[in-house]
Amino acid sequence: MSTRRVPVSQPLLGAEETNHVNNALAQGAISGFFGDYLPMFEQEFAAYCDCAHGVAVSSGTTALHLALATLSIGPGDEVLVASLTNMATFFAVLYQGAHPVPIDSEADTLNLDPSLLRAKITSKTKAILVVHLFGHPVDMDPVMEIAREHNLYVIEDCAEAHGALYKGRKVGGIGDIGCFSFYANKVITTGEGGMLTLNNAEWADRARNLKGLAFGDKNKFMHKDIGYNFRMTNLQAAIGHAQFGKIEQIIDAKRTIANAYRQRLGGRDDLQLPVEKPYARNVHWMYMVLVSGRNAGRRAEVMQALAQKGVESRENFLPYNMQEIFINRGWTSADECPVANDLGLRGFYLPSGPAISDDDIDYVCQSLIEALDQ
Ligand SMILES: *Cc1c(COP(=O)(O)O)cnc(C)c1O
Repeated sequence: MSTRRVPVSQPLLGAEETNHVNNALAQGAISGFFGDYLPMFEQEFAAYCDCAHGVAVSSGTTALHLALATLSIGPGDEVLVASLTNMATFFAVLYQGAHPVPIDSEADTLNLDPSLLRAKITSKTKAILVVHLFGHPVDMDPVMEIAREHNLYVIEDCAEAHGALYKGRKVGGIGDIGCFSFYANKVITTGEGGMLTLNNAEWADRARNLKGLAFGDKNKFMHKDIGYNFRMTNLQAAIGHAQFGKIEQIIDAKRTIANAYRQRLGGRDDLQLPVEKPYARNVHWMYMVLVSGRNAGRRAEVMQALAQKGVESRENFLPYNMQEIFINRGWTSADECPVANDLGLRGFYLPSGPAISDDDIDYVCQSLIEALDQ
């Protein structure tokens, strides 16, 4: 067992975060109802995504939930969702009482395969919920075309893709509503937090009202709807504002890390590396690799060997259609999305924190190559 330890991810926190949080505290602006940092962070982050409005919330999960609630998607409605994702994406659809329909993956980007969408559309379909996985944008042109044809909303789960570009456009501003997470390991963080990005002013107002218990306008306690408490606090927004100042620096670091991994690990036929399609800027949230060829069945062994060397890694998600909680309810079956299953079982990600040293990357790669060659 090695004494060296390379964590999968650590946030880049510094004096700016401390100073802004202290400011918020000194002003007594600690809740989610007032404080200067909330509108500041909302406006700067929305503008970064080329959107007119940002609505800060308590997590990526509540961002997704609020987006669906804002669009009044509920019982009787179907939503097409990338099967391979953090299950929060599916939970959000289920919180609203709507029915999620899993879509299988592309083998190279790991994102949902747009060519499979049409066959899953019914008279009940209301929305497509795409997930830009591990920092690589979904191929959005075909998604938007299908959505226009069938009059469907498009919601983007951007929890792993802050700053990713599709044909030069920022994710989060391509569909109807973008949903971001600022959890501790995401591209930028507020500890816990999330945001909706959108251009429709009416929906932005509705989301803003719903996230704060849907208080009334004239008479505050005559509520407009069944509201939620999904508020981000001004303290979290203070951290977000500090993090926002570093977003391009962090993305540059992640892309540099990805290049370093590719240089050291490229050219092997027993390891599949992340891609960057011509239409994409991949922000490489986490460097996801897949054992393949002669090592296709050896993920657990390889991860174990890395752990012995003090190198942390994490398995890929398991798709919706492999989750027992959903199979047992009769909603899906293990064989519904075969590509997603395969990617879920072969993938794992390597240390990708923005502050990782070149020396640590060398060490991770040496350890990985040793494990693969065993
Ligand atoms: C992290 C993540 C979420 C959930 O975000 P939280 O802030 O943890 O609630 C949703 N979708 C995807 C794809 C994620 O990676």
